[in-house]
Amino acid sequence: MPTRGDRHLRAIQLAKQLAALGARLKTIHLITGIPPRQVQALFFPDPRSIPRGRAPDSAEWYHGANLIVRTDACLIGAKYRQLRVQGLTAGDALVLAYRAYQAATQPPHRISLDRAFNLVSYIDGLWLATAPTLSVLPCPTCGCEFIAAVGTVAHGDACPFCKLLERSHLDHRIQASYPARATRDMTERQLGMLALFHLLSPGSDTPAE
Ligand SMILES: [Zn+2]
Repeated sequence: MPTRGDRHLRAIQLAKQLAALGARLKTIHLITGIPPRQVQALFFPDPRSIPRGRAPDSAEWYHGANLIVRTDACLIGAKYRQLRVQGLTAGDALVLAYRAYQAATQPPHRISLDRAFNLVSYIDGLWLATAPTLSVLPCPTCGCEFIAAVGTVAHGDACPFCKLLERSHLDHRIQASYPARATRDMTERQLGMLALFHLLSPGSDTPAE
């Protein structure tokens, strides 16, 4: 049974990890429960280093984002969902999913930690959200997991990975690398697919809608 001290120590460690990933004070506060002033005193001794900007107050941005931002969001959402199913706490799952996303894509990363926090809040119905409005679905066409509004029926037309393949005209090369077979870890497969996409199209990583 963890003591109060253990829980506090864990909250401080998590806050430090979130601060290192660029989270805003309010985000760190909502995840760890540590008051923003204390977060600032502990991790942002120089006020100029405090991340600024307003966080989105809904998940609507996802539906209006361009294709590559949506596929990036899907990587984070799918990894987060997978880690939650494995029993990780929401805070730990967010940190690990965000790090996996950073490792799979080139900087500058299009999705900030705060935006990832927004996304998983609406997937899980916690922190910023009172109920889930987004869900993570397996695509019946390509096998990748993608984010859609709750209640959406999974089909290839709603899957950003299918659209990415279609529009980048790389399908034969990608299909050669990812033969249609059951893969145990779909997140790994879609990370690979996105990495390959970036590799094959240098300098054109933001295709028009
Ligand atoms: Zn698909």
